[in-house]
Amino acid sequence: MTDLNIPPLLWLVAYQMGLHALLWGLSSLMLRESRSAVAHWALFMLLLGAGLALAGARSEPRLWLFYNGANMIAVLGFAVMRRGTEQFLGLDRYDREQLAVLLPVLGMIALIGPSEQWAPLRVTLAYGAQAFIMLRMAAVIRPALAQEFGRKVMLAICLPAIVIGLVLIGLGLRQVVLWKEPIEMHLGVSGNIALMYLYLSGSALFTFGFFVLLTQRLVASLQQAAVRDPLTGLFNRRAMTEQLERQWLRHRRTQAPLAVLVIDIDHFKRINDTLGHAAGDSVLMHLSTLLQSHVRGEDVVGRVGGEEFLLLLPDTQSQQAIALAERLRVLVRAESLGTTISVGIALAHSVDDSAESVIARADAALYRAKDAGRNRIEVAD
Ligand code: GH3
Ligand code: MG
Ligand code: MG
Repeated sequence: MTDLNIPPLLWLVAYQMGLHALLWGLSSLMLRESRSAVAHWALFMLLLGAGLALAGARSEPRLWLFYNGANMIAVLGFAVMRRGTEQFLGLDRYDREQLAVLLPVLGMIALIGPSEQWAPLRVTLAYGAQAFIMLRMAAVIRPALAQEFGRKVMLAICLPAIVIGLVLIGLGLRQVVLWKEPIEMHLGVSGNIALMYLYLSGSALFTFGFFVLLTQRLVASLQQAAVRDPLTGLFNRRAMTEQLERQWLRHRRTQAPLAVLVIDIDHFKRINDTLGHAAGDSVLMHLSTLLQSHVRGEDVVGRVGGEEFLLLLPDTQSQQAIALAERLRVLVRAESLGTTISVGIALAHSVDDSAESVIARADAALYRAKDAGRNRIEVAD
């Protein structure tokens, strides 16, 4: 033992936790995205800060709240953090597993009393439970993190969590080895200074890391909104213009065939007029699903107008394009959508000097199909 004065440091770290709690709390009020997870994180910081503050206020005689209470609050904070993080990633709840750990650990910490004699058991239990929660959380969130944010981000979050978990295990083990000598947080043991650095770094990393993830998620959803049609989830007109340009350049470079299908629902206005707008919407969603399930992975499907769809089919010859259009036409008529479609087909051609001219020819073919009575396919020359 040395005569390091730890309590003021505990207060300082508790202050930082409180600050983070306040900032997360304000964020949860301001952000609509992931609000519940953010509220959990605010509570986590608050509980951890409260636990540290209580430990900083320890004195003689030993009072339950400042010893056992402080440990319990901190462990609870970790459990809240895990729950919020899993919620952030849309994972199933692990409340039963959490309770299976929390009930015995918190129960024991509560019951063993604040005496110095029981301090080693209390310390071991508290660090052990925190370590378990950290490591289990890292294991559970790993796949979901990698899937949504990529491998690098997953590592950037999970590695620090694992390191902190291992350090907590080390702290628990140190207490087991030095059983005769309580290593409580407020004591002037040299490792306790390092512990304060760990808490400071951990909470800063946590707040900064998850704020970056929140921002990334927001940017991704804005990017999606910019290119997707909200009703069907298909590419919107703007995205299709870009896709078309890309396909056109590829066609020009490789001379590989490129087919374009313009699909328009026949007398769609009547569906709206007789069955209502909602029924019309449901027809649009149905058709969108149908189109998506009948094209290949490299084909591009978009909704470019109210009831007008565009299909870009790379490496597709005229015969295949016609066969697909015919299959779609028959399916739409057969399914009880109560409607039919007309299709204009054009293949990129040496007469085309731009992607727009291919589309213009497909549109002209579509008009011919409409004029000829609808529920038809027409191929541009
Ligand atoms: P045609 O066979 O000549 O294509 O006739 P049509 O009735 O399908 O074509 P028209 O262009 O006259 O009408 C298209 C209708 O599509 C008009 C509009 O109310 C409806 N519409 C456009 N966007 C939506 C939408 O998002 N939802 C619904 N329910 N209807 C839409
Ligand atoms: Mg129509
Ligand atoms: Mg139309």
